[in-house]
Amino acid sequence: MDFGGSHRRRFNSYIDHMRGIYGSRVQKLAIDAGFTCPNRDGTKGRGGCTFCLNDAFNPSYCDPARPVRQQIAEGIEFHRKRYKRACNYVAYFQAYSNTHAPVSRLTDLINEALGIEGIVGIVVATRPDCVDDEKLGLFRALSDQYYVMIEYGIESVFNKTLERVNRCHSFEDTARAIRMTAARGIRAGGHMIFGLPGETRDEMLQSAGIVSELPLTSIKFHQLQIFRGTAMEQEYLKNPGDFHLFGMEDYLEFLADYIELLNPGFIIERVAAETPPRYAFLPSWGPRYDTVLMKFERLLEERNSWQGKRFVFKL
Ligand code: SF4
Repeated sequence: MDFGGSHRRRFNSYIDHMRGIYGSRVQKLAIDAGFTCPNRDGTKGRGGCTFCLNDAFNPSYCDPARPVRQQIAEGIEFHRKRYKRACNYVAYFQAYSNTHAPVSRLTDLINEALGIEGIVGIVVATRPDCVDDEKLGLFRALSDQYYVMIEYGIESVFNKTLERVNRCHSFEDTARAIRMTAARGIRAGGHMIFGLPGETRDEMLQSAGIVSELPLTSIKFHQLQIFRGTAMEQEYLKNPGDFHLFGMEDYLEFLADYIELLNPGFIIERVAAETPPRYAFLPSWGPRYDTVLMKFERLLEERNSWQGKRFVFKL
């Protein structure tokens, strides 16, 4: 396959995808709109997933005590200073489960975000068991006018893993929600974690074929990070041998193998997690995300790897 030298990426990147639609970089602005999660408030469970520490994922300007409008304005200001180039923005409802509320509340919050100049769409992170016909109807209607994506936490395709991390939903729930979303013409994104306890490298690689059969628009990959104060930290201290915590070089080799097996139609939005070192118990890689991404792209070239190189199309 000819990649035209080093200028063409060896995977479908989200940045290129958005640039293709809007003609410029589109920056996601994370919002904490004050949602909770059915796995925390008792609807499905208490205590949450064993790895979850939302503070570690949220940028500092996210504060549920501030209105969505204010969070977005501060986010735009933050990114204008840092990047000096983004001119379109997507409101990213990130913290906890952002469809875990009545449709009337979702409508108000989303309209508040979409009413701000420069916001071209929304990305809504949620759990697969937090959508239904009525909520998807709202997103379907918005999709005619705006960029709309629902981002589902898949985390693992194996129910033994989902049970072990106290996810309180199954992979069948995930597949159903993603299919319902895509069937309505709404973009569906997915999020995977590599290194969850009890999963072997072979199982993780095997998951590429399973995920590839879902009608996803995009996918994000994270290495497992264990955060201070989580149930997983305690579990790790008791049974460290049950975990495969990736070092950076090992992870990038693994991910290169993984994307060779991945559906070449998916857009890859992230290849690794980056969280402030103060939250991480283990492992701490050091380099910033941009450096990790550069290393990954270099590795793909060295190996002559590309997304879908070993993907098997099923009729
Ligand atoms: S579903 Fe998401 S927000 Fe809820 S506990 Fe799990 S990781 Fe945290």
